[in-house]
Amino acid sequence: TLSDRLSDTFKNLRGKGRLSEADIDATAREIRIALLEADVALPVVKEFTAAIKERARGEEVSQALNPAQQIVKIVNDELIEILGGETRRLRYAKTGPTVIMLAGLQGAGKTTLAAKLALWLKEQGKSPLLVACDLQRPNAVNQLQVNGERVGVPVFAPEPGNGTGNPVAVAQASIEEAARKLYDVVIVDTAGRLGVDAEMMQQAKDIRAAVNPDEVLFVVDAMIGQDAVTTALAFQEGVGFDGVVLTKLDGDARGGAALSIRSITGKPVMFASAGEKMTDFDLFHPDRMAGRILDMGDMLTLIEQAEKVFDQEQAFKAAEKLSGKGDFTLDDFLTQMQQIRKLGSMSKIMGMLPGMGQFKDALANFDEREIDRIQAIIQSMTPAERDNPKILDGSRRLRIAKGSGRQVSDVNQLVDRFTEAKKMMQQLANGGGMPGMGPVPG
Ligand code: GDP
Ligand code: MG
Repeated sequence: TLSDRLSDTFKNLRGKGRLSEADIDATAREIRIALLEADVALPVVKEFTAAIKERARGEEVSQALNPAQQIVKIVNDELIEILGGETRRLRYAKTGPTVIMLAGLQGAGKTTLAAKLALWLKEQGKSPLLVACDLQRPNAVNQLQVNGERVGVPVFAPEPGNGTGNPVAVAQASIEEAARKLYDVVIVDTAGRLGVDAEMMQQAKDIRAAVNPDEVLFVVDAMIGQDAVTTALAFQEGVGFDGVVLTKLDGDARGGAALSIRSITGKPVMFASAGEKMTDFDLFHPDRMAGRILDMGDMLTLIEQAEKVFDQEQAFKAAEKLSGKGDFTLDDFLTQMQQIRKLGSMSKIMGMLPGMGQFKDALANFDEREIDRIQAIIQSMTPAERDNPKILDGSRRLRIAKGSGRQVSDVNQLVDRFTEAKKMMQQLANGGGMPGMGPVPG
């Protein structure tokens, strides 16, 4: 696996604190192989690894991670970003029924997905109507009816009056039916061929033109690997689509198709389907897919743990200072602020800590950019001033304000806040330890 290969690559680098050009090259090579093995299209792999190298060069060196871990983290973050950067939910029509049209090759999983999506929508409180517009295969209508029954969703099928034999007429009639009977989402299942073919494209295009869907979803089998890209491009050109659904993720495909299609068509993967059961269906989760593409769950867990341990060590050092082994300084204050920001929004964190609920309201309006301003001010102080803010007289405060581009009142406010925080920390330390860290020795 990639984990093993990376570990080998970095055997000699353990404990080394920064990313060298050689480190970056070596990892980029391994990442490239991993992506190709996961069926990511070559041009996408090239572009992606180039971006990763660029970012790795510019990255601040994290003290918490070794070089391999650090690059993997960058790759993982970047994958998540690309896979989900613009993840969006279904768009519903403002008036009248929302129309969702499915398109894709035969066997992609459209008919199965239609029912899964209907069930999912039903669970969200919608009342969907399934529409059978695959009139190519003799059994297709029946298959949708069987699936519809399984999820308890009605199926609109061709019969005299509904437009027999003509999928465009059936689709049109279904919208009228939905409006009449107050169904709020119409899911149009369409025909596919085994390969891309002009007639099928034309038919899908005609249905699209007739019903003007709010969403056209391109359904693609993750198992087809590299072919996913050519198929996606053909559908983008021939029918056009707004989002992608990946199916058969319960197979052993690593899912590189998701990355390729996202990069090449620019359309988001919105849903993932992973099994024959009607409930094997969910919104697409970029983080899970990134883990799957990289195939390095273990390494990612390790990275998370390494970072947590590092943060805890830092916090512990601060706590030790409070318990009399040192003094809590402005540097410690800044470190703490930065760690809290790393963990998430202040108010959320405070709400999670036992005994800190009382501060929650005060922090609910906490402006995260405030940390940047605090940082600027503290960094304009000399080490002596940071260690002992008591020496901050008027002229020092004026100098610091100028140096950090703030007002003297901002500096005053910060010093006051620091004094408050110091008091609070000391109370906590005396009162049996920092929340979530166990008792503090001493
Ligand atoms: P369509 O031709 O696009 O309508 O595809 P179907 O919905 O008929 O699916 C083709 C085959 O793939 C059927 O045997 C389905 O049971 C199967 N299938 C669909 N989705 C999944 C999935 O997520 N996982 C697995 N394992 N099989 C699936
Ligand atoms: Mg079908």
